[in-house]
Amino acid sequence: MKFKDLCQCYYNLENTQKKLEMVDILAETLAKADEKEIGKISLLTLGKLYPDFVGIELMLAEKMAIKSLALATGKSEKAVQSSLEKIGDLGKTAHNLLENKTQSTLLAFTGQQEIEQYDVLEIWKILDNIAKITGEGSTDKKIRILSGLLSKVTSLEARYISRLIAGNLRTGVAAQLLLEALSKAKTGDRENKEFLERAYNRCSDIEFVSTILYEEGLEVVKQIEVKLFSPIKVMLAQRVSSSEELLERFNGSCSLEYKYDGLRVQIHKKNKDVRLFSRSTENITNQFPDVIQFINDSASKDEFIIEGEIVAFDHEKETILPFQNVSQRKRKHDIDQKISEIPVRVYLFDVLYSDLKSRLDSAYLERRETLKEIIKESNDIRFSHQILAENSDEIDEFFHQAIKDSCEGIMGKSIGEDSVYQAGARGWNWVKYKAGYDAQLSDSFDLVIMGAEYGKGKRAGKYGAFLLGCYDKIEGVYQTFTKIGTGFTDEDLEFFFKELKPLVRDKPKEYQSDIESSIWFDPKIVIEVTGDEITRSRLHSCSRGFMESNLEGLALRFPRFTGRIVDDKAPEQATTNDEIRTIYLKQ
Ligand code: ATP
Repeated sequence: MKFKDLCQCYYNLENTQKKLEMVDILAETLAKADEKEIGKISLLTLGKLYPDFVGIELMLAEKMAIKSLALATGKSEKAVQSSLEKIGDLGKTAHNLLENKTQSTLLAFTGQQEIEQYDVLEIWKILDNIAKITGEGSTDKKIRILSGLLSKVTSLEARYISRLIAGNLRTGVAAQLLLEALSKAKTGDRENKEFLERAYNRCSDIEFVSTILYEEGLEVVKQIEVKLFSPIKVMLAQRVSSSEELLERFNGSCSLEYKYDGLRVQIHKKNKDVRLFSRSTENITNQFPDVIQFINDSASKDEFIIEGEIVAFDHEKETILPFQNVSQRKRKHDIDQKISEIPVRVYLFDVLYSDLKSRLDSAYLERRETLKEIIKESNDIRFSHQILAENSDEIDEFFHQAIKDSCEGIMGKSIGEDSVYQAGARGWNWVKYKAGYDAQLSDSFDLVIMGAEYGKGKRAGKYGAFLLGCYDKIEGVYQTFTKIGTGFTDEDLEFFFKELKPLVRDKPKEYQSDIESSIWFDPKIVIEVTGDEITRSRLHSCSRGFMESNLEGLALRFPRFTGRIVDDKAPEQATTNDEIRTIYLKQ
């Protein structure tokens, strides 16, 4: 497929808001792709060169993109910079500048311009080369290759190449929409998305799933199982707010575990090769050499995938330390120093693959037994503390003990025959019951920073208040839920000011908001917030359409930042509108 045809499709996608129409537009183009290119097309459509867990990103600094554009167009860097400031989007800037260049070239020579017809795989390869250049002089080399490419493509292609290097295509296509379009393109029926999603949740690898679909068909996609070193999308929990409700959810008997407040980790091992993946399938192996050592020391088998929580641990006092400690271990530099400053312990709670078989479809208690065959407990690795419970007194007692033992609360897990591991789902097989005595609302929300207002007084020169939103998984959009200005330290505000760059253009396409924020951001940072109460609101769009009146949404009253930046959650993993509605109905 020619890259320019794919870009035309992206352009058409950009110009519609309707989800079904987007699926049709994308499916029509994907139907023309062959099995050798569909994998890379799928990745590019999500703005990526590789699945997240591979850890190779294109993302060039804005300065480098400006330099490349200046070279490609013959303009000064200053001129490119000022266009970018006016337009506010690298893609549109490149499009405009190159369009003007093409016209002036045509006027000057009234002849052919040198536009090459790249196909998609060629473009992927060039971008991959750019991503992989490292070492001395790498910046100059990257700029040279990129400017060479930009000078040979059409202005429309330049629009999307520039956005790819900025890490966001801005077409509004997320994984769910892509899966639906692939299903429609190849099977003629968008409903088969269910099988693609099942496969995708098992390996987080869109390139692999789409290639199998095109090469071998839907029946083979249905057989896709977990594979080592391809992280499985994690299973998530629903919330309950009392021991009675917890018991009711499981028809009177269930398993309880401590809910440790740390970093979720999925551990893949084959012989000495051990890799760690975060909750959002990012490869975090290099950050925890100590954990790799613990696993190698404690493993009784050579090959498995297990899951647990890494917590900071005080071995002298034998206590778990608060989350803020372990979060400092998420770093790329000074790792050895931090290992001795902040020792960790791993609490394991599940097994997803062992003895060359997927364990996802085994029942929970069976999985726990298997886990014990795989790992020997040590001072550094433990199984999560667990009991079986049949009445709410037992649950309350376990809950209070969990809090005393420095945990966030407890997890209730189904022990029925269907207590399988639901990859990528937030189902009722797992529930969480968390502490929250100090607030009226017993739970917190992980919300995306969508926009901000500039601060006044002490906060002058930084952002003073933020517009926060939840995620609507079905529509793939963010909805506003609250405005917040409380609970931030000066360091927090400085961090947000550094990390969040205002968009010059309108609010992102995937934002549903009636509120006119002074500043909009791309979805990037997720923060944890508590509040007093969820109320109906005509201002906020969270869950609008599900309420009695279509004019009303839901809003969080008296929101407070808990101090926790949830950096192991991608924006699409923020609290959903569905979850907020469930909490609202229970209030
Ligand atoms: P939260 O912010 O409450 O941790 P979450 O959205 O990250 O929520 P949930 O599915 O709601 O995830 O809650 C389960 C999380 O709790 C897991 O992602 C995991 O990190 C953590 N956890 C701690 N202890 C356990 C345990 N024993 N079993 C399962 N998950 C546990």
